[in-house]
Amino acid sequence: AMFKTILVPIDMAHAAEGKANIDIAAQHSAAGAKIILLNVVEEIPTWAAAELPANLIPDSLSRAKEELGAIAKATGQDLEVEVRDGRSYKTILDVAKEKNVDLIIIASHRPGLQDYFLGSTAAKVVRHATCSVLVVR
Ligand code: ADP
Repeated sequence: AMFKTILVPIDMAHAAEGKANIDIAAQHSAAGAKIILLNVVEEIPTWAAAELPANLIPDSLSRAKEELGAIAKATGQDLEVEVRDGRSYKTILDVAKEKNVDLIIIASHRPGLQDYFLGSTAAKVVRHATCSVLVVR
């Protein structure tokens, strides 16, 4: 099937896999489809936050926006870029609902953790998403 609104969550520590998933998104796009790249900057628990610089989250958000924007630009395609803070899996599901996403493309786990069948974020997205999910191995 071809999809109209595709969400590609990208973990900035493993951007290379994210880029590969953008190609897969293009292959599953209907004519005029929208591809949204999403990075979630993980929230810091309050017990730990006191020890950290106050501007850590805003700095991480703007750095992620810059890096994700550069990845989008390098593809030469017209992609939407979203950076949010929160819990990864929950934010991925929220953005999917909010933007009427019909396909989420996600890596099964981070590279090097092949012992795991599904990473923790991927597992929760597969379990709770109300749209189709393509798990890339
Ligand atoms: P692991 O538990 O091995 O780290 P994850 O399930 O967290 O594996 O990661 C699998 C995929 O989930 C990533 O390749 C990415 O697509 C997505 N993902 C994980 N964390 C984030 C994040 N912070 N922002 C966006 N996507 C993420």
